[in-house]
Amino acid sequence: MDVAASRTRELIERDAAAVWHPFTQQSLWIDDDPIVVDRAKGMYFWDTDGNRYLDGVSSLWVNVHGHGVAEIDQAIRDQLTRLDHATFLGLTHEPGIELSEKLLATAPAELTRVFYAGDGSSAVEAAIKMAYQAQVQLGEDRPLYLHVAEGYHGDTLGAVSVGGIDLFHATYRPILLDTVAVSSPGVLRDGQTRSDRAAEVLAEMRETLEQVGSRVSAIVIEPLVQAAGGMLTHDVEFVRGVRQLCDEFGALMLVDEVATGIGRTGRMWAVDHAGVAPDLLTCGKGVTAGYLPLSAVLARESVYEAFLGSANSGRTFYHGHSYTANPLSCAAAIANLDLMARNDTVNRAAQIGENIGSWLTPLEAHSGVREIRRIGTMTGIEVESVGDRTGFAICQEARRNGVWVRPLGDVVILMPPLAISDDELHELVDVVANSIDKVVS
Ligand code: PLP
Repeated sequence: MDVAASRTRELIERDAAAVWHPFTQQSLWIDDDPIVVDRAKGMYFWDTDGNRYLDGVSSLWVNVHGHGVAEIDQAIRDQLTRLDHATFLGLTHEPGIELSEKLLATAPAELTRVFYAGDGSSAVEAAIKMAYQAQVQLGEDRPLYLHVAEGYHGDTLGAVSVGGIDLFHATYRPILLDTVAVSSPGVLRDGQTRSDRAAEVLAEMRETLEQVGSRVSAIVIEPLVQAAGGMLTHDVEFVRGVRQLCDEFGALMLVDEVATGIGRTGRMWAVDHAGVAPDLLTCGKGVTAGYLPLSAVLARESVYEAFLGSANSGRTFYHGHSYTANPLSCAAAIANLDLMARNDTVNRAAQIGENIGSWLTPLEAHSGVREIRRIGTMTGIEVESVGDRTGFAICQEARRNGVWVRPLGDVVILMPPLAISDDELHELVDVVANSIDKVVS
């Protein structure tokens, strides 16, 4: 055995002995032949055996400009020489201030305040608490949340409460918050259009709100794409309709843009497609270009003002973390937003999305493909099941051909970094299409 292979084997043995991986059935983990990632550059990463893989899902939907980007590397290094970390409780710092300004400048003008958190889940958690507390402080006791089937907002308990994917969430139902769910606007009945489906679910939402609306503090949605639900896409009218219902019934509109934000849909924010301003917007994942953990809640001034009062008013938002607004993460995020502006990344993302759509067109007629769903670069290819783990088998086949993608059940996901070149995108699409053909034909 050569040196590389024995290093790989040793690392896998140590992993098997000491590590518990997220969202992973550990009894299958080692037999599934895990990749030990060694290094990355541009759109590719390499394993400890020297094999190269195209990163077809942006390292789980986070990477924006590729790996090892000089400008972001340098921004983190520069920040490291000034300030590694300082608490944001009782202190402030320039990267945290500057990033707030820059994030707000990209968002609907009605959003005027940034509250930082660590991961997407913790941003959603903060926003859920914020919504309830704001309502209480505005004189309304509204302990319920309205959300959507097949939704995913993270894995902390508040976020799970407003989720709707049974595989991930059903186990925890007895210990969750009080919520009401409506059907998914992205799950169509035979022959139904997305527009009809949006109207139908909005009517269901209205009916629900007519019964319990005075107790609902927020309606929580993933705008345009229910990502972890299998890239279920819905009509832009659904987002507009939710805004109207929020206004009518006094609920806050909480849009979770952890997956859809930072350009993935071909606009900076998915709500930009709808021309709608929410009351609370959560973001994470791509904020730091996939370098470091950082997320945020963007809030309207009216929500923020509901928290103002004297020291003893009880109106403070008693929420925050040890690493809130970590300066290294903020520096990476500032460099990311600067680079996005300089490279016109959002428009390029729209073009990449169009290319994915047209290059996948031949696959639409494939007997093994049920549906291809896509908004911008966020793409799900739902395949016919031909065994226990069809989606996984397709991804393993792609892996053998130098492309790393990860499925959601039998939906193969493509979500490349937004800086991918046309040649690299062709490689991704071709390998995935061939892998689907091999496994499901
Ligand atoms: N919200 C949405 C819409 C997501 O897609 C995800 C993760 O996929 C999350 C929240 C949770 O983010 P994180 O995994 O960073 O906690």
